Amino acid sequence: MSPPYKLASREHQPQNTVIALPYGVELGGPKVVIIGGPCAVESEAQLRQTAEVVARAGGKMLRGGAFKPRSSPYSFQGLEHAALEWLQRAGRDFGLAVVSEAVDAASAELVAAHADVVQIGARNMQNFALLKHVGRLRKPVLLKRGMAATITELLLAAEYVLAEGNDRVILCERGVRSFDDTTRNLLDLTALPVLKDRTHLPVMADPSHGTGRRELVGPMARAAIAAGADAVMIEVHPSPEDALSDGEQSLRLEQFEKLLPELGRVARSVGREI
Ligand code: PEP
Ligand code: MN
Repeated sequence: MSPPYKLASREHQPQNTVIALPYGVELGGPKVVIIGGPCAVESEAQLRQTAEVVARAGGKMLRGGAFKPRSSPYSFQGLEHAALEWLQRAGRDFGLAVVSEAVDAASAELVAAHADVVQIGARNMQNFALLKHVGRLRKPVLLKRGMAATITELLLAAEYVLAEGNDRVILCERGVRSFDDTTRNLLDLTALPVLKDRTHLPVMADPSHGTGRRELVGPMARAAIAAGADAVMIEVHPSPEDALSDGEQSLRLEQFEKLLPELGRVARSVGREI
């Protein structure tokens, strides 16, 4: 039986979709792309300090939230336009493609004007109006799995974007809610080979939100690459103690730098490189 998602399926397109970004970065190609950066952009200095290390270590993309979808309305909501300008500048200065999250149609326009990839977060995976909106943008979309979404629902969410004419979607496993509160979420690494089997779209993992704990990010990043991830997104901060969001799961700069050669070795062991 044909799957309910059509354009996203391997039946529709057997060969992998490869998404070309600035600086020769390719998502879904032979190399595993490492994306690093703070959860939220907090200042230009914080961002540039981080971007420099991400680039030096061998990361190819810079992340940073300008619009933060926070559980509490009293938590830091992001620096919006200023943050996007700093991201754009840092990306250009350090040779990194940039990804940042949009939370509604207006922020999607702003993000698309400054970043190379528009992220749709877990909380918005089934915001169908927003999915349709980014489907009409001419920028790739990084779509994160909802925290209670099935793999089929993730693929159907991608289908909304594809059906609007935007064929550049990257799927991200970022952990689902579970009964066990030992970790923030349960990173479902099985989703990676399942997705690679069902769809031609690039597939990535986010071990930062997937675990919620700094010491677990390295092991799960290695595991994600071994399981076939095309990219891995890692939160990193110059001073995680002072972070305005997700400090507990953010690597220190030196930890990020130390991790990347390890990820390179795992990539080579599965016939790829970073
Ligand atoms: C993020 O990437 O900072 C984020 C908010 O992720 P998620 O939507 O997966 O919670
Ligand atoms: Mn975060």
